[in-house]
Amino acid sequence: MLNIVLFGPPGAGKGTQSNLLIDKYNLVHLSTGDILRSEITEGTKLGLQAKAIMDRGDLVSDDIVIGMISSKLDNNHNAKGFIFDGFPRTSAQAKALDLLLEKKGTSISAMLSLKVEDSELIKRLLERGKNSGREDDKNENIIANRIKEYNNKTAPLKKFYANQKKLSEINGHGSIKNISHNLNTVIDSL
Ligand code: ADP
Repeated sequence: MLNIVLFGPPGAGKGTQSNLLIDKYNLVHLSTGDILRSEITEGTKLGLQAKAIMDRGDLVSDDIVIGMISSKLDNNHNAKGFIFDGFPRTSAQAKALDLLLEKKGTSISAMLSLKVEDSELIKRLLERGKNSGREDDKNENIIANRIKEYNNKTAPLKKFYANQKKLSEINGHGSIKNISHNLNTVIDSL
């Protein structure tokens, strides 16, 4: 199986690049942000709990997102592989993911980390906020909180995957096509 963690701060382009990768490599896209937003749209209890947290730009609890990923893995047992987008975001999530995959006799193939300057992230997110309908993209203070959460809790995961010799960093500036080419080159060399 090909199991990729697509990593990077909010606004790095993970969603855009995931869509290109799932087509090229025939993978299942698991975005915890998308799954949470669909829970909100459906008005589930989980969605109601998550909405206030997401609108502030804080992280939803590990138990909730690990449970979501676990059931998605179970529901896609014929998949050729997965792209994890926006997950794991904490070390508890990364450890849980390793265990979940181990139980399925597989593991993470690589973490591809998109590197983008903060000023560019803020610009992209505010632009997206104009028509995405996402509350967390509309306000610069909330965006700053999301970047802070990323730096404090999520960025340290690079070390977790570097220790497993699985980390590749990719420049997230430039054209979508160019970034996609660079991601493909790393995957093809695995
Ligand atoms: P972005 O990468 O642009 O911040 P996402 O759609 O990945 O957007 O996430 C939006 C929000 O959903 C996060 O700010 C957080 O509140 C919540 N969320 C998504 N994934 C996770 C996760 N793995 N752990 C905790 N919270 C999460």
